[in-house]
Amino acid sequence: MAANEPGQPALAGTTFTHPFTHNLEVPATALAIGAHPDDVEFGCGATMAKWADAGCVVHHLICTDGSKGTWNPDADVVALAAQRKVEQSEAARRLSGTNAGFVVFLPNIDGELDSDLTMRGEVARVIRELRPDVVLGHDPWKRYRLHPDHRHAGLLTCDGIVAARDPHFFRDHGLEAHRPTALLLFEADEPDHVEDVGGHDGLFLERKLDALEAHISQFESTMKAVDDDQLAAFRTRITDRLAGLGEPFGYSAAEVFKLITDL
Ligand SMILES: [Zn+2]
Repeated sequence: MAANEPGQPALAGTTFTHPFTHNLEVPATALAIGAHPDDVEFGCGATMAKWADAGCVVHHLICTDGSKGTWNPDADVVALAAQRKVEQSEAARRLSGTNAGFVVFLPNIDGELDSDLTMRGEVARVIRELRPDVVLGHDPWKRYRLHPDHRHAGLLTCDGIVAARDPHFFRDHGLEAHRPTALLLFEADEPDHVEDVGGHDGLFLERKLDALEAHISQFESTMKAVDDDQLAAFRTRITDRLAGLGEPFGYSAAEVFKLITDL
């Protein structure tokens, strides 16, 4: 749920002032953590599609039920939450095909996520169970971010990695500690890593768009797309955004991140 399309930090014409790393080696397993259904597709969908196409198993962890993702004050929010689970599972399938991994939902109410010790333990548990090489999540330090769930989900991603990697955290899990090799923060305040998602006849961009369109319940509130023309305009906006992000690097499309490897 979001009042506006969540997404990348820059539009066409932006210039970055610091050096970037390019294109991580495709991991065997990735875990993308979003506050709501659809956040992962906005933040890193094309990168997930690229990695899955190269054999990476892509797991999703969604921290809330998305039950506030509507402008209809009379909506049945229980039904909406159920629908959004179905949509998220379909989006994961569209992104990653046969390499779609688990889609895990934490039982938090949309808008009420807290980066507390209990939730940190739950995120750490998922990391220890799924043992991803790379974790992706919201940048919790993005300035002027209003939605609290995005801040808290970002903090939980970072804090969950620390708890998962150190064996004395949450010993009650009875799970072996796990240290990922890299963390990529999307919607980054200061991106310093770029993933080329162009080429391949636009396959990865197309899969991102298809996955976003699995979130049918969000067409009105997030994507501003209640008819075919508006949906086409939405696709153009996303396409242009990724083209703008790729342009400084000579890529026809890109997603950018803050890369942290000192885990
Ligand atoms: Zn969101």
